Amino acid sequence: MREEVESIEEKDDEAPSATGGCLCGAVRYRLFGPLRDVVNCHCGQCQRTHGNFAAYTKVKRSAFAFDERQGLRWYNSSDRARRGFCKTCGASLFWERLDGDSLSISAGSIDPPSGLKTTKDIYVSDKGDYTELAPGTEVTLKGGAAHANQPVSNAFTSAGQDFTGLSGDQSGEPE
Ligand SMILES: [Zn+2]
Ligand SMILES: [Zn+2]
Repeated sequence: MREEVESIEEKDDEAPSATGGCLCGAVRYRLFGPLRDVVNCHCGQCQRTHGNFAAYTKVKRSAFAFDERQGLRWYNSSDRARRGFCKTCGASLFWERLDGDSLSISAGSIDPPSGLKTTKDIYVSDKGDYTELAPGTEVTLKGGAAHANQPVSNAFTSAGQDFTGLSGDQSGEPE
């Protein structure tokens, strides 16, 4: 088992840039320093666990500390990544690479206002057929090269992409 995120005691003298937590409060955290812009991940695994695409910001693990984690459980969603959730209220909160030094955090779990902007949609080859992408974000079919965000769904459908398979953790990111 990997080393857990450092304890809050080491951050007590630092002002957080954001705070957040799950629906019931059994998981609470603080973030320090700048947060990455929000990336919407449409991969099949994010859809299954979030009930829709996942909107993630991200910080270095050293910029993260728990205030409360009695509800926290981890699910190894692949051999290279795991997802953190609240066992009491079911909130989907975190994604991280097992060998990484950063933590992706569900943007909706941040106490508002987050001050964040959504700048990317990734894994749109797997996105729900009911989902309309917002204009103006950078778009990638998987985690890789960017495409222009228009007209996404038509282009990807006609390219014969597989919309049914679960992907994401196998090949990479929510980032
Ligand atoms: Zn909870
Ligand atoms: Zn995903």
